[in-house]
Amino acid sequence: MTVPVAGLGMVSRIEQLCIDKGMKMTEQRRTIAKVLSDAADHPDVEEVYRRASAADPRISIATVYRTVRLFEEANILERLDFGDGRARYEEASDDHHDHLIDMQSGKVIEFHNEEIEKLQRAIARQYGYKLVGHRLELYGVPLDDEE
Ligand SMILES: [Zn+2]
Repeated sequence: MTVPVAGLGMVSRIEQLCIDKGMKMTEQRRTIAKVLSDAADHPDVEEVYRRASAADPRISIATVYRTVRLFEEANILERLDFGDGRARYEEASDDHHDHLIDMQSGKVIEFHNEEIEKLQRAIARQYGYKLVGHRLELYGVPLDDEE
């Protein structure tokens, strides 16, 4: 998502988060921040590179790696692992969701289930902990219609 900010032109959501955290924003960082803000999927670094270099051919994959790592360390991005050995990224959000990964097509479904959330809090409590976070990935194949 891109939000207009008076006097500064278009500042992407992620760029604004970087600014709020006092990060120095170069033009290339701004481009990468915009690509990540505009992403509705869960791109890996190579896909971020593909999109960023389409906007600015001077951007190198090394810069994308460094920038994504920087955003991740600032808790602006969340790193995801969908079991294929490629780190994927999405904007860190207060709106928690989990992921269901289609093992055949690679499609990713985002879901939120209050029963699962409750159950996880209960399990943590049972062991004497207050739950502060979790990560859940479900892996599936489409149901056969004949079944
Ligand atoms: Zn997601």
